[in-house]
Amino acid sequence: MRLQNKILTLLVPLIVLPILVLGWTAYALLMDDARDRTQDQVTTLLEQIRFHTEAQLQTARANASLFASTELVRQYVTTASAQQRAELEPDVRDLLFNYQLAYPEYYEIRIISPTGREMLRTAIGNVDNLTTDESSTDYFRAASNSAGAIYTTFLNNPDNNKPALLTSKPLRFIEGKSNNRKLYGYLMLTVDLGFLARQSGNQKVGQNGDVFFTDSRGNILFHPEDTQIGSKIDSDLFQELGDAARDSRSVGAVYKDKAAHYQGIKLHDWLYAVAVYQEEEFNDKSFSLGRSVTFIACIAILLTIALLFGALKTLLITPIQKLSRAAKEMGRGKLLVTIGVDSNDEVGELADTFKNMGENLNYYHEQVRYIAYHDSLTGLPNRLMFKDYLNRATAEARRNLQELSILFLDLDNFKRINDTLGHMVGDMLLEAFADRLTTCLRETDVVSRSQHDNPTSVMARLAGDEFTILLPRTTGASDAQKIARRILELLEKPFIINRQELFISTSIGIALYPSDGTTANDLMQNADIAMYHAKKTGRNNYQYFSDKLNEVSVFKLKIENKLRHALENNELKAYFQPQMALSSGRIIGAEVLLRWKDEELGRISPEVFIPIAEEYGLIVPITEWLIDNTCRQAQRWKERYKDPFTLAINISAVHFCGNDLVDLISKTLHATGYDPHFLEIELTETSILQDPEQAIETLQKIQEIGLQTSLDDFGTGYSSLNYLMQLPLNKLKIDRSFVMNMDTDEKGTAIVSAIIAMAHSLGLEVIAEGVEEASQLQLLRKLQCDIVQGYYIARPMPAINFEQLLASSARHLA
Ligand code: C2E
Ligand code: CA
Ligand code: CA
Repeated sequence: MRLQNKILTLLVPLIVLPILVLGWTAYALLMDDARDRTQDQVTTLLEQIRFHTEAQLQTARANASLFASTELVRQYVTTASAQQRAELEPDVRDLLFNYQLAYPEYYEIRIISPTGREMLRTAIGNVDNLTTDESSTDYFRAASNSAGAIYTTFLNNPDNNKPALLTSKPLRFIEGKSNNRKLYGYLMLTVDLGFLARQSGNQKVGQNGDVFFTDSRGNILFHPEDTQIGSKIDSDLFQELGDAARDSRSVGAVYKDKAAHYQGIKLHDWLYAVAVYQEEEFNDKSFSLGRSVTFIACIAILLTIALLFGALKTLLITPIQKLSRAAKEMGRGKLLVTIGVDSNDEVGELADTFKNMGENLNYYHEQVRYIAYHDSLTGLPNRLMFKDYLNRATAEARRNLQELSILFLDLDNFKRINDTLGHMVGDMLLEAFADRLTTCLRETDVVSRSQHDNPTSVMARLAGDEFTILLPRTTGASDAQKIARRILELLEKPFIINRQELFISTSIGIALYPSDGTTANDLMQNADIAMYHAKKTGRNNYQYFSDKLNEVSVFKLKIENKLRHALENNELKAYFQPQMALSSGRIIGAEVLLRWKDEELGRISPEVFIPIAEEYGLIVPITEWLIDNTCRQAQRWKERYKDPFTLAINISAVHFCGNDLVDLISKTLHATGYDPHFLEIELTETSILQDPEQAIETLQKIQEIGLQTSLDDFGTGYSSLNYLMQLPLNKLKIDRSFVMNMDTDEKGTAIVSAIIAMAHSLGLEVIAEGVEEASQLQLLRKLQCDIVQGYYIARPMPAINFEQLLASSARHLA
């Protein structure tokens, strides 16, 4: 079960139960209160009725006294003469009638003789007088027994069969001159209890409750009109009501067919008031109360759960989920995780601990990795790591169709050093060797061709005195070869270990991807084989795995050696190939081309030796020599012959991209006194494209010192017109291949024509190279080419021949 669900199952009863209990208690209390209040109301009502009844009673008593004490009444009862009494009777009747006008409820006023005979009676309305002899009635007997006090009682008037209040005041007066009071009769008021009936009709208890009055036996005297209570209250219930009335309790019973509460009060011995109200009213009240309580409780429950759950989710569940995700990631090996819990409570502390744990683990993981992947002596990567690098590098090379090379190094006779000088010295030597090689790799820029790709070479110690170097993204064999040569060169200097000079050499095997192997294993194995080959061929050298490369390498080495020698011994020659202006047909200059004839190998084409000179760093001294030599010679010719001519010198990309070309030219010009305006620099598109911004700058500097610039072999590279327009150039040389195709192919002519038009529109002069036929010359003239050069005009010639040409007044070759 998810934590979230667990909390919910725990939380819900925890919240719901107390709120329900609370709600129920509140409901019960409120209900109780409502019940109590209703009961209080009923009690108050009944008390009010009692009070009212009592007031009526007191008034009746007071009035009875008042009426009895009038002089007329005294005279009427005390006179002994029947005649006098008859004479008085109308006045008494009038008086009593007047009283009745003031108190209409006293519907019958009588004067009764001490024996119970009715002497006089005034009545309002048609109340029949059933009997005039009251002597045998209960109330008369009770009144006459009340020892002279005012007697009051409630009774059922037999005359009209209605409940009434009867008040009897004894009429006692002093007889004659004696001081004795004599009873002459009774003044009796019969009071209508209509006020009770009115109360019963008016007083409503709640919606359906009622008030009614009974006598002492439970006979109902007054009741509201719509009451179906019958004429009598059940005697058991009445008995119970009487008991309950003493402490204002109510009694449960049925009223109008529904459960109800009865509460009674004794108003007088004979008169009781009973209030009844239905249970249903409470139920209605309790339903609406219960609904409100339930509604409030539900809202409270929902709100509490939502709030609590929300708080728990943000404070606990979400952080725990985040922690669990982080833990999973850590489990998968991603140790530096971002947890995203940022609170300053225990959960935050836990997250911090997690993070620290991850960092620590990561630290130790790195340590372990470092130890597992590095050689402890030199700190270089070990075999494991090298293999890893190599695997990745071959995969990348395969993807990008690139080449790479590895070098396998084994120190020559290292065992002897270990044996003679001890392992300590051996170790120190290995460390020093590793340092020197690492520095060399860092400094050699052969492997980083431009800013865009940034290959890193890797050096590793495999075991003992075995080292490997990985050169990713190298092109061909020459990069590896350069590094190998550099390493051999570096080892010419001794190592100083314990203040003694130690020389050590190494044998290097080279294997190339993909030609010598496509997997890391194959490449390492083949580099190893090549290394054994180097050992066999006398140590302190490098060998390729492939024989062919070894042959090329041997040949190149030979040429390089011979070329170096030739340069030192001044065996190189400058030849001059004339250039002719098409407008005048005159020789206006020449391209200077190198020639070299070796004793053993014979003539070697510049197309062979110039790339080798470039590769082995010989091109700069050779060009220096050539510029110097050319300027000296030309300066002599200038002094001798009047007509001006321009000499064009080829500059290699390697040289052009270096920094000191402009310096070199200005120095030479200065030293020889040659006019820079008659010297021209020929550059190929490739040398410009390597770093166009830099090329523009260099070309500008070259033009600033007065030289002319021309773009060689135009059309063979990938010239962008955009750059061409920005380049500070004077001339453009159409490549030989275009001129060659010109007269055989219409398209060829169209291309040459287009190049000429474009060059002219950019303000450049056009030289056509490789003109071998008269037809080509004629076409070029037609296409308004400016200058031509080629075997048809003249082959490259030694200086002496060119001088003769300059000397001949004609100078006209075609
Ligand atoms: P390039 O700069 O295109 O030189 C023109 C090449 O075309 C020369 O070959 C020249 O002898 C040859 N040539 C001239 N007219 C004709 C013709 O009508 N038909 C044919 N088939 N070939 C013709 P070369 O002298 O063998 O030089 C070859 C390349 O060697 C040159 O090509 C140039 O790139 C390089 N080179 C020669 N001398 C130097 C130099 O002093 N410095 C540098 N950096 N490169 C040089
Ligand atoms: Ca050239
Ligand atoms: Ca050329």
